[in-house]
Amino acid sequence: MAFCPRCAAPNVDTAAACAACGSPIAAAGAPGSIPPMNQQFVGAGGGAMMPKTNGLAIAGFICAFLCSIVGIILSAVALSQIKKSNGTQKGEGLALAGIIIGSIFFVVGIIIQVAARR
Ligand SMILES: [Zn+2]
Repeated sequence: MAFCPRCAAPNVDTAAACAACGSPIAAAGAPGSIPPMNQQFVGAGGGAMMPKTNGLAIAGFICAFLCSIVGIILSAVALSQIKKSNGTQKGEGLALAGIIIGSIFFVVGIIIQVAARR
């Protein structure tokens, strides 16, 4: 039998909180009640805090150099997917870089083609 430190009501030894007043019986009675709570917190936080880089963002960034139009399209799709993912996917900067670099290569490609025709 354990007695509540707050209201002195009798409780079973395994009780984490007083049945009479709800006050936690932690000090000597149940030292094992705190570590499981910490483990649960770390486990839940660790699972949610691991956003994956969007694969299309990587593909779009690479394609921006090789085939600018494909790179722009892939990066734009990747950017919309990342924004819809509510933080579960990362790579927004990579997708934006793919769009910008793809656009530059696209414009440069047109200038080179126009110049070559003269
Ligand atoms: Zn109590």
